[in-house]
Amino acid sequence: MYAPPVQRLITELGKLPGIGQRTAQRLAFHILRTDADDAYGLADAIREVKEKVGLCEICFNLAVEPTCRICQDERREAATICVVEQPSDVIPIERSGEFHGRYHVLGGALSPIDGVDPEDLHISELLGRVDNGTPVREVVIATNATTTGEATALYLADALRERAPDVVVTRLASGLPVGSDLEYADEITLGRALRGRQTI
Ligand SMILES: [Zn+2]
Repeated sequence: MYAPPVQRLITELGKLPGIGQRTAQRLAFHILRTDADDAYGLADAIREVKEKVGLCEICFNLAVEPTCRICQDERREAATICVVEQPSDVIPIERSGEFHGRYHVLGGALSPIDGVDPEDLHISELLGRVDNGTPVREVVIATNATTTGEATALYLADALRERAPDVVVTRLASGLPVGSDLEYADEITLGRALRGRQTI
């Protein structure tokens, strides 16, 4: 129905989350109508982000350099690590202004049904960060309040207790809507949840 280049654009746009067939068509026609400079700006931004942004070699947050800006910031408390599922989860916690420690991004949550096992996440690297001799005193588990997020929290609590018995393991308090993703929580809810975190 469409010329092959147009069909290709529609197909690629349709792979984005939340973009159905009709929206993909609408966006494709918008791009066709738009100035060449604007369209190339979008294409360049996508290329640049894929070429330049990688993962921090310490915490696996997004990073332009080998380590991320939070790991490079000497003012961040080294004694506390907040564990999240995805890099996008760091943003709302930072926005809450309640957390001044470091992060550790797992890269997902445990889900045996989907084939996500402990070795598929950055769990061994987390355990390495709390070993004897490191300044870490507390690990705050901020995985999502979903079935997989809760299962991951319990698994991590056990593994951390075994590896580093002196480290306090806490979990975000309720206040987060059950079944929702951290990424979509508002600052107030998330701030309260952080202040009320408890040992598990
Ligand atoms: Zn980092």
